[in-house]
Amino acid sequence: MPKTPEDIIREEIRALTAYHVPDSAAMVKLDAMENPYRLPETLRARLARLVEEAALNRYPDPGAAPLKARLREALEVPAGMELLLGNGSDELIQMLVLAIARPGAVVLGAEPSFTMFRMIATIAGARYVGVDLREDFSLDADPLLAAVERHRPALTFIAYPNNPTGNLFDAASIARIVEASPGLVVIDEAYHAFAGASFMERLEGSPNLLIMRTLSKLGLAGLRLGVLAGARAWLAQLDKVRLPYNVGTLTQIVALEVLRHDEVLTEQAAAIKLERGRLLRELGSVPGVVAYPSNANFILFKASNAERVFDGLKGRGVLIKSLHGSHRLLGDCLRVTVGTRDENDAFLTALTQTLAA
Ligand SMILES: *Cc1c(COP(=O)(O)O)cnc(C)c1O
Repeated sequence: MPKTPEDIIREEIRALTAYHVPDSAAMVKLDAMENPYRLPETLRARLARLVEEAALNRYPDPGAAPLKARLREALEVPAGMELLLGNGSDELIQMLVLAIARPGAVVLGAEPSFTMFRMIATIAGARYVGVDLREDFSLDADPLLAAVERHRPALTFIAYPNNPTGNLFDAASIARIVEASPGLVVIDEAYHAFAGASFMERLEGSPNLLIMRTLSKLGLAGLRLGVLAGARAWLAQLDKVRLPYNVGTLTQIVALEVLRHDEVLTEQAAAIKLERGRLLRELGSVPGVVAYPSNANFILFKASNAERVFDGLKGRGVLIKSLHGSHRLLGDCLRVTVGTRDENDAFLTALTQTLAA
């Protein structure tokens, strides 16, 4: 008898729900925190020429030294700290978890937060412990500190700003958790471009702290480049978990060239932040909607019958994300990415129509 998936696949994997990416063809796509703007024509033309020249018959540069040097400057990484690159920060999360996942090892996180923390921990065979945020999505340090005491996590993830709630947790509370943690603490700063706050400069005084960034939310989601910054002693071990050539030649070339002109990305982030302010004000004035302040490029909001609202928007050609049912604190919550002015208007019109229908 041939074996079935039930015989062979681990039960914790069978119990997972696959990370679902909905079809968004021809939709106003405001579901995935992408930057709505493309790169300027001149820069795209330069990228085309660089791609034309690339030696794709060869394996990528395994050390990616030129790209790392530029990243150090662009991300203001403190001198003496190392960088580790990933195929998106998702891959860095995977390397981190794989490196610590001995039987019984605990990965700690606040909840609700980025789903990949729990999902990758589960896949790697570590034990994920989630501690709930307060009802207003602020970080409650005391239960987290109690969980640190009780579970002695090997790895703690804190998204700063948090996804899907969009807020920055209290920095002093995070510092207490870093201080109290016996294991690594990774601050995931995927939304740094929109946040105006960072733990990067605290790397020097905190030997168990690592900072994670990504180019995805900044405008290069299609490229897949994540960056982990921290002390060499940690990154040298994590580097052994990295698959050789995980960051392809095209990613290296394109990222380096775009980062040489990163004022383009900074300007786009500034435009997104302006639109975020407008969208928050307009959303806040829609009857029946409660919108939460955001330090990211998306806004979490609550509207009764969130599933119906999600479907109504989808039927009108606007794709956002429903979080209803994903966590106790997220009942009737939806998340919209800040798009262009026109996209945001299309969203607001569709939302008003849906709520009136
Ligand atoms: C989107 C996101 C990521 C994943 O980014 P990639 O670099 O595209 O893999 C990581 N962390 C958080 C909190 C995110 O929201």
